[in-house]
Amino acid sequence: MGVRRFEHFSRYNTLLRAVARLIHIASTFSRSTQDSGCQGWHICKKSRSQEDLEKAKIIVLKCTQQDAYSEEIKNINAGHPLASKSPLHKLHPCVDANGLLRSVVALCSQS
Ligand SMILES: [Zn+2]
Repeated sequence: MGVRRFEHFSRYNTLLRAVARLIHIASTFSRSTQDSGCQGWHICKKSRSQEDLEKAKIIVLKCTQQDAYSEEIKNINAGHPLASKSPLHKLHPCVDANGLLRSVVALCSQS
């Protein structure tokens, strides 16, 4: 999913609901959810579940970070140090279990 598609949405929450709807539809194609009453391409209120909205947030953030910091993410995942010219260099970023960039400095300063 390219981030340029996100530009079609003027509101963040509308984008999240659209991505959550896609997540819900994709999940209905798997066998494990076919008995929930949802199948294939459809629109229903179940696509606005908190779980699907949280997944949508992660996907939107991940795509946006990948677009802006692909080189940094590649280096972190390979265990290589970031170039000193990188805007993230002083933040000592890491990649969390969801594949999102996180700043060790920001995490430490919150506590
Ligand atoms: Zn549904």
